Amino acid sequence: MAKAKSLSALQAGLLVAALVLFPVMLTLLFITPQSNIKQQGMRALLPPQIRSSIISSQVHLDAYAKELGELQARMMRLDAQNQRLAKLAGENEQKIVNNPHLKPLGGLQQDGRGGPLVRSHAMSEIELKAAILELTEAVDARDDYMSKIEAKILQKSVLKDMLPNSSPVDAAFNSSSYGWRIDPFNGNKAFHEGLDFTANTGTNIRAAADGIVSSAERTPDYGNIVKIDHGSGLETRYAHASKLLVKAGERVVKGQIVAQVGSTGRSTGPHLHYEIRLNGNPLDPRQYLNR
Ligand SMILES: [Zn+2]
Repeated sequence: MAKAKSLSALQAGLLVAALVLFPVMLTLLFITPQSNIKQQGMRALLPPQIRSSIISSQVHLDAYAKELGELQARMMRLDAQNQRLAKLAGENEQKIVNNPHLKPLGGLQQDGRGGPLVRSHAMSEIELKAAILELTEAVDARDDYMSKIEAKILQKSVLKDMLPNSSPVDAAFNSSSYGWRIDPFNGNKAFHEGLDFTANTGTNIRAAADGIVSSAERTPDYGNIVKIDHGSGLETRYAHASKLLVKAGERVVKGQIVAQVGSTGRSTGPHLHYEIRLNGNPLDPRQYLNR
């Protein structure tokens, strides 16, 4: 009796659990056909609800893998189109073929046929994540490359003084500011359509090319902003200014001071937010700045 009393609550709990679980495991072992255990391993010993939820999550993974394969295949078709465009822009054919930015996806190369994601086994979640990451990186690389090709085509088709290729401010730009990035205000990933130059309030902002001021006004997000129309669908925008020094309708020349750096509107500190747009769509300004 004295010994039984010295049993702690934890020990007693474990004993009860073992006594209950042992017959359950034994029953499972007997009611599960041996051939199943051989095929599925320990999975066959799991209760049916858990087993079917594992199977259904594999069904989901398979569906995602299929969609991913389709995306990869679509990207390959886009690659062929990109190569044709690069050729039109005057890129050397050998340079296009050897371009690391247009390198085919690993998952597609393995079997040498270029078919979409042909695999001998079902994809695991880890493999699926790796394939998504690879696809994301490949899309980013193509984004960059096609911006370069677009810049090349524009340089050929636009008058020299109308192409916004001079720096709008005498300051360094934050190279990672253009493109997909975390929004400093809400923490979501969003496409940032301009290039940010950090500069002191009052630093002169200059027109990047000849043009006509299409607007010079105050807006909630951009703060004080100047927009310059350069013809051929090209427009530059200079935002968050402390001071606007031109008016809508005014003709400006390349290098002319149009505003001063500030932190008006949706801004976290004094900087110039600079955009180049072609027919309303943002271009990568880094491709147009003389470096
Ligand atoms: Zn910005």
